[in-house]
Amino acid sequence: MSENKIPYKIYLEESEMPKQWYNVRSDMKKKPAPLLNPGTLEPMTVDELSGVFCRELAMQELDDTTAYIDIPDEIRDFYKMYRPSPLVRAYCLEKKLDTPAHIYYKFEGNNTSGSHKLNSAIAQAYYAKKQGLKGVTTETGAGQWGTALSMACSYFDLDCQVYMVKVSYEQKPFRREVMRTYGAKVTPSPSMETEIGRKINAEFPGTTGSLGCAISEAVEAATTQEGYRYVLGSVLSQVLLHQSVIGLETKAALDKYGIKADTIIGCAGGGSNLGGLISPFAGEILRGENNYEIIAVEPASCPSLTRGVYAYDFCDTGKVCPLAKMYTLGSGFIPSANHAGGLRYHGMSSIVSELYDQKIITARSVEQTSVFEAAETFARVEGILPAPESSHAIRVAIDEALKCKETGEEKNIVFGLTGTGYFDMVAYQKYNDREMSDYIPTDEDLQKSISAMPKVDK
Ligand SMILES: *Cc1c(COP(=O)(O)O)cnc(C)c1O
Repeated sequence: MSENKIPYKIYLEESEMPKQWYNVRSDMKKKPAPLLNPGTLEPMTVDELSGVFCRELAMQELDDTTAYIDIPDEIRDFYKMYRPSPLVRAYCLEKKLDTPAHIYYKFEGNNTSGSHKLNSAIAQAYYAKKQGLKGVTTETGAGQWGTALSMACSYFDLDCQVYMVKVSYEQKPFRREVMRTYGAKVTPSPSMETEIGRKINAEFPGTTGSLGCAISEAVEAATTQEGYRYVLGSVLSQVLLHQSVIGLETKAALDKYGIKADTIIGCAGGGSNLGGLISPFAGEILRGENNYEIIAVEPASCPSLTRGVYAYDFCDTGKVCPLAKMYTLGSGFIPSANHAGGLRYHGMSSIVSELYDQKIITARSVEQTSVFEAAETFARVEGILPAPESSHAIRVAIDEALKCKETGEEKNIVFGLTGTGYFDMVAYQKYNDREMSDYIPTDEDLQKSISAMPKVDK
């Protein structure tokens, strides 16, 4: 097929949008390790999880076997406002790099929340509404998840309470105001509204908070208010399930033009966009039907896959959540100042962790300034101002394309462009002023939080 036949943007028809999510766990012979009750160390049951999560979501969380799960019409109707999202052929970037590689990116930033997180937010809000709940609580770090959830809750007329890491609350007032515009109540964390918040404030006066701490507050708020449940925007298997819409659309768009991806790249914070993007492709690998090189990209400042340990750990600082087996740096790990807020989590999705352990996927860590260099190159030729998180994937896509320049290979490289960076201009400013640092934790730094992890013999 002549090159010109592949358009800049491959759009799917509305009717081609997936009708079901794909659950990659169904094709894994060795399943991800179960969530454990932190008290008994026994696997969590649907009943136990239902105290914290909506029941239907608790069922999805524990479902290791159903391959396809119907996307309810109400959710598909919402998806139709901003999906199918385009798969873009990065002709301009290819030209700039002078590479024989063909580069494609799946753009998830084309909605007001500015990221892929809306794909799961709307699903979680839907199940909460269906269960007759009054509202949901959550935490947000950089603010993308809180924004997505506030949009989803306003659509279904649910109350939305967001605990926002204090440092972001103060540094990102515009994110906060978007959430409030959609009707969410935004509280800086640690707050004085929860027991755990008061405890953390007393222990660490003046602390600017962390994601793990905000999670503990949001869980407490959900379990102490009648008619509320807690929702989470990443890490959980239910979130990867909802995000599989990204991978299914990507695959459908590639198939439409007979394109076989060789390398698939995604940034990895908690692993949800990566897990969603790669699910259908990983499924083919697991079923022995095809081969792909899959690369998870994480910041060198928070390297859970490349330098963490694969073990049971707490998901939050307050240690109220179930234990998850994952690649982790320890729940006490606090990454250095890094501008990709969405990639600052200490652990990783248990599905992504298990796929990594089985060597179905690989991982790479990249330094912040080289990430912003890639972001700048991309923005200047492709027009989109990428989120710092997304730019981790851009960095490795560029690196791979430059390798092809040396070898002459015409590889098809596909990466996930998870969002836009309009609310991250302080980070861009630091980069433009050459004031950005590249702190990489030492082995001693990591050992401290890793040795404080729970000792679970499973
Ligand atoms: C939250 C976020 C991420 C990282 O989260 P994952 O769960 O690892 O996908 C990446 N990109 C953007 C734009 C985000 O908002």
